[in-house]
Amino acid sequence: VDETGNITYKRVMVDDLMKSLQIGLNYVVGKHHQPQRQVLYQDFQQIEYQDFPPEGTRLTPKHSYAEFRLKTYAQTAFRFFRNAFGVDPFSFMLSLCGKDLRDLPNPGASGSIFYITADDAYIIKTVSRKEARFLLGLLPGYYMNLTQNPFTLLPKFFGLFCYQSSNKNIRFVIMNNLIPTNVKLSEKYDLKGSIYKRKASEEEHKRELPTLKDNDYKYQHPHGLILESFFYDQLMQTIEDDVRVLGSFDIMDYSLLLAIHNITEEMKSTQNHSLISSLSSNENEKLTSIPTDSDIAMAQFSNHPTYIQYLRVIEFIRAQQEHSVLNTRQSLSDTRINNVDTESIKTVKENLSPVLSTVTNRISQSNEESSNSTNIIFHPQSKGLIHHKLSSASTSHLTDGLIGDDVWYNRQSLSRLAMAGIPAVNQNGDLLLLYVGVIDILQNYRLRKKLEHVFKSTLVTREEISVCNPSHYGARFVRFLSHKVFRKGSRTGNTLLSDSQ
Ligand code: ATP
Ligand code: CA
Ligand code: CA
Repeated sequence: VDETGNITYKRVMVDDLMKSLQIGLNYVVGKHHQPQRQVLYQDFQQIEYQDFPPEGTRLTPKHSYAEFRLKTYAQTAFRFFRNAFGVDPFSFMLSLCGKDLRDLPNPGASGSIFYITADDAYIIKTVSRKEARFLLGLLPGYYMNLTQNPFTLLPKFFGLFCYQSSNKNIRFVIMNNLIPTNVKLSEKYDLKGSIYKRKASEEEHKRELPTLKDNDYKYQHPHGLILESFFYDQLMQTIEDDVRVLGSFDIMDYSLLLAIHNITEEMKSTQNHSLISSLSSNENEKLTSIPTDSDIAMAQFSNHPTYIQYLRVIEFIRAQQEHSVLNTRQSLSDTRINNVDTESIKTVKENLSPVLSTVTNRISQSNEESSNSTNIIFHPQSKGLIHHKLSSASTSHLTDGLIGDDVWYNRQSLSRLAMAGIPAVNQNGDLLLLYVGVIDILQNYRLRKKLEHVFKSTLVTREEISVCNPSHYGARFVRFLSHKVFRKGSRTGNTLLSDSQ
């Protein structure tokens, strides 16, 4: 913030910067809407630039900001990535340039600025020269990982650019926004597996949706969040693979970003609007008997986008159980999770109803139960809702390391779910949807100051500090996530895994 109270970044007015970026990106992304070809090794080093004088040129528009130049890095490679992530050039351009970007407050210490597109799809983050260079060097490996493991939770990078104006260079990446904005989130965490300085500040706590950290998580969820074993195995396997890739590039200091949507809480809060509105809004679904509390909650909730989304997740799981792996793979390719016909939503709705009352029961029972009981999830009595026709034998092969066809299929299902939300429950038995991704991966061990390590080591033990070597960092990250953050729904005392039909 300068003397006049305007926020500047490297002495460029943030507002001017935003407008200039949009002008530049509109031109550049539009221009790169060319026929596709395969990515060649040299493409990772490709740099193009374009000048944008205020008076405009034959190719570029007039504008009222300072003259600038936009450098585009590795455009062929990034175009490949965008395509692989299912982003078409026109909608990409529309998201970036159609409307004003919004500032995102950055709780990080790096001083990067974050913008988010008006439609919440993309995040623009400024990066240092070191980070930009590092990303360019990383691209071939990133490409390799993406082609071998398209279901990665690593950031989706859509572009790397540099804005240059009067000898200032501002480099920025465009990536996916992991935090959904169409659902109400109850908590958000940035997790590293470290305890050193891993507590959100008081100031951060005052925000509407603060970014909490490891120690806050341990306090809020001392028993972790419980995932049905299928999701747990898939999620942990994906994270382990991603961490292996990060380790191979000596990357550390990355985090898992975790956002939680609490469906049960939301249902409870809408329940009060109750009977009258639920009756009037559901005229074609006349209630024949006096509705119970959970019927009312259902009626209230059934038009909610999150609920619909949840039904899709459930429907998806169900489909998976009901078809053989091969059959389901077929149905996966038809965007099942995006388009569920109303008939199947109705069926699932009927099926979900007992689960919801189970959840309500759980909440009232929870006081009597020992706090470490983790063996719920979707209740087995829920009439075929989540019956594991995949027997325990067929789920255990997921972890034995061989990437066979079945595993491949299962990984694909997880990556789709990661966007729709991964179902989980907390210790109260609340139904949750989790949104996760790995962020901030441009920190390289060899490039960082050695001093930091030496200094911090003298104050706290090796295990406690977040500065250590990449393999230690990765192992600790995985350990924390697999033991403390996510827990596998227990098989004992639970017929979840047995076919009880
Ligand atoms: P530092 O290096 O000090 O940790 P940074 O400036 O590099 O911080 P990040 O760690 O990348 O910033 O991100 C800071 C915060 O911004 C995250 O904790 C998260 O809340 C938010 N954020 C970052 N990337 C994303 C993303 N892809 N989607 C949604 N939110 C994000
Ligand atoms: Ca960070
Ligand atoms: Ca960082």
